[in-house]
Amino acid sequence: MKTTILIDLNSIKKNPKAGYQSEYFPIKKEIDFEIKAKELPNYMIYSNWNTEGMVEINYDRNCELTEIQFDEFNPDIKIFKGIIIDPFLIEMIQKDKNLENSHVKINNQHIRIQHFEPQYTYKYIHTEVQCRECEKTFMSNEFKSDEIYDNWEDDYYSSDRVCPLCGHFDCADIEYEDIDDALLRMKKII
Ligand SMILES: [Zn+2]
Repeated sequence: MKTTILIDLNSIKKNPKAGYQSEYFPIKKEIDFEIKAKELPNYMIYSNWNTEGMVEINYDRNCELTEIQFDEFNPDIKIFKGIIIDPFLIEMIQKDKNLENSHVKINNQHIRIQHFEPQYTYKYIHTEVQCRECEKTFMSNEFKSDEIYDNWEDDYYSSDRVCPLCGHFDCADIEYEDIDDALLRMKKII
């Protein structure tokens, strides 16, 4: 015998967030700097190029240089471009009066996650069901979920209707009422 788990009509509510929703989550922050100065201040630690033209990673680095430009009008001044690794540097650079000019830009990168919100939210009225294996009864919200390896099919078989008492898979025939059917029932009552 198939048992239908009915929706509690009093629990049906219109979902104000129904439909496709998207949210933005920050994933990465990239901080660029551009500094005009004779030399970079010594609190900025970055990797150097060795004499063979290979970069030697400095594990104490708090920033990394990506470009050095020479000022064509003033040979003493260079424009250093790069990225900041340690955000502590931002304030130090901004407060440093020895720099001719400095600019820090924070780029936030986001990822958009889309999910679907149903039109209605509701709860089920849980009822007593009987396990066909051990024949004991329990409430329909007590079903366990599990998966077993099926040698015959060479695949995993999962069930969300595992008996909480004896562990038998698909231990009772139940179906959950569809929201459309519950709304029809509600119309008949009104
Ligand atoms: Zn059982």
